[in-house]
Amino acid sequence: MRPVVFLDRDGTLNEEIGYIHDVSMLNLISGAAESVVKLNTANVAAILVSNQTGAARGFYTEDHIKLLNDRLVKLLESKGAKLDGIYYCPHLETGKVTEFSIKCRCRKPEPGLVEQAFQEHSDLDPKKAYVVGDKASDVALADNCGAKGILVKTGYGQAVMDGRYQYKVEPAYTAHNITDAVDWILKDLAK
Ligand SMILES: [Mg+2]
Ligand SMILES: [Zn+2]
Repeated sequence: MRPVVFLDRDGTLNEEIGYIHDVSMLNLISGAAESVVKLNTANVAAILVSNQTGAARGFYTEDHIKLLNDRLVKLLESKGAKLDGIYYCPHLETGKVTEFSIKCRCRKPEPGLVEQAFQEHSDLDPKKAYVVGDKASDVALADNCGAKGILVKTGYGQAVMDGRYQYKVEPAYTAHNITDAVDWILKDLAK
């Protein structure tokens, strides 16, 4: 059984710049690819779990979400980093586009994406699971699926810590960035 790290996308792996209309504007946070390589080398699964409401809001199509994810994968792969799975929630209850405007079980902090990953990857150890993200909803996801939550200060992370965004959470660890988060996880697993 492999430990698993569920990774948020925007503000965690790539720079938070709001809704990304131009695919080429998606760029990695410094150290992100190297951190995923560390997970790959340690045989820890790295799985993307991302809320993507741009299609539900009518900003772009679902295909555009896939193109953004493809760009992320390409940037990671160019530095030898591999994701073991990609899961996203395109839903938003109050969205504009009917097909995506539902109350679902996969919008973080709901645990649907993580549950789907465990169903599709039988080698993942739910007792050695982590969620890394820049929002309170990422840490709450960890709480909702029995994982350890790590809040990164990149993206919205600092604003969450300061109480200026979303709500208060108590992560297992607050990390400067993805590099610090992954180093902490690998130490925690070695305990
Ligand atoms: Mg994020
Ligand atoms: Zn959903």
